Amino acid sequence: MPLRYDLHTHSTMSDGALSPAKLVEYAVKQQIDILALTDHDTTEGVAEASLAARNRQITIVPGVEISVTWSSCTIHILGLNVDHKNRQLQQGLAALRTFRNWRAKEIGRRLEKAGIAGSYSAAREHAGGASSIGRVHFARFLVAQGHAANVPAVFKRFLAKGKPGHVSGKWASLEQALAWIHGAGGQAVIAHPARYRLNATRLRRLIGEFNECGGEGLEVVSSSHSRKECVAMAMHARRSALLASCGSDYHGPGNPWAELGKIPPFPTGCTPIWKSPRWRLYDSAQEGYPLQSGSERWPRG
Ligand SMILES: [Zn+2]
Ligand SMILES: [Zn+2]
Repeated sequence: MPLRYDLHTHSTMSDGALSPAKLVEYAVKQQIDILALTDHDTTEGVAEASLAARNRQITIVPGVEISVTWSSCTIHILGLNVDHKNRQLQQGLAALRTFRNWRAKEIGRRLEKAGIAGSYSAAREHAGGASSIGRVHFARFLVAQGHAANVPAVFKRFLAKGKPGHVSGKWASLEQALAWIHGAGGQAVIAHPARYRLNATRLRRLIGEFNECGGEGLEVVSSSHSRKECVAMAMHARRSALLASCGSDYHGPGNPWAELGKIPPFPTGCTPIWKSPRWRLYDSAQEGYPLQSGSERWPRG
C-alpha cells in the first residue's frame, strides 16, 4: 500500500475548525500516513499536533502557509518540513500576524461604515484561540448574521477587491518567504497555483521567479483545482522541473469539496516532493528530524 499524504491542512491556530490534536485524530481515522499542518503565518499548532501524533501511526510534517504579495496579488507559499523553532522564520511570521491583526481592525471599521456593526469583536470570538484574526472569521460571523449564504458568498460580496470590507496591504515578498523557509531547513511549494486566476504569462512569471528564489514545488493536486487544472499544473511543474505536492487545504467539517485526505492521484509525469533527496521525516517523540531519506528505517511508498 502506498503511503497516503495530505500536505496542506489548517487548525484552530489559524482559520481551521479543529484543534491540532483533533485534526491529527481525524487524520488517523482517514488513514493518512503523512500529514502536514500548514496554518496561515503560524507554526503554533505544530507542538500540539506532534504530541497528538506520538504513539500513533502517523507522521507530522511541521509546516506553514505564508502570505506573500507578488505583483499586487496575494499568493500562498507553503513551507514543508521546516524547523519551526527557527528564529528568523518566527520573526517573519510574527510580523505577518501583526499585519493580519491590524487588517482585522480595519475590516471591522470598514464594515461598520457599511452598516454592519460589531464584526471585529465577533470575528475575534470566532477566532477563539487562534494566533491572529483572519477574513474567514469575519465571514463566519456574516454568515451567522444572515448577510450571505456561505463563506465564499461573503468573500464575493464583502471582502473581495472593490467591496466594502476589502483592505489592501503588503504581506511578505516572495524572496523573504523563501528565505525564511529555506533558513529553517524546509522546502517551499506554491499553494493552489490555479486559484489565483493568473493568466498564462503571469503564472509562468510567478513560477519563474519562484524557481530563481530556489523554490522546490508546485501544489499540483489541491481541492481547489478541477481535474483539468491539476493536469495543467502538472505540466507547469514538469516544464519548470518543480516537484509536485498535494493537499486538501482542509479547514474543518462541512466543506465537502475539501475533505481531509481526499486527494486524487497525481497526473502522470509528476515527481512527488517526498521523492526529493531533501525530503526529511519529523519524529514527534524526539521533536526533530533524525530520519533522512535513504536511511534503513525510511518508510516505503
Ligand atoms: Zn491558501
Ligand atoms: Zn490553506
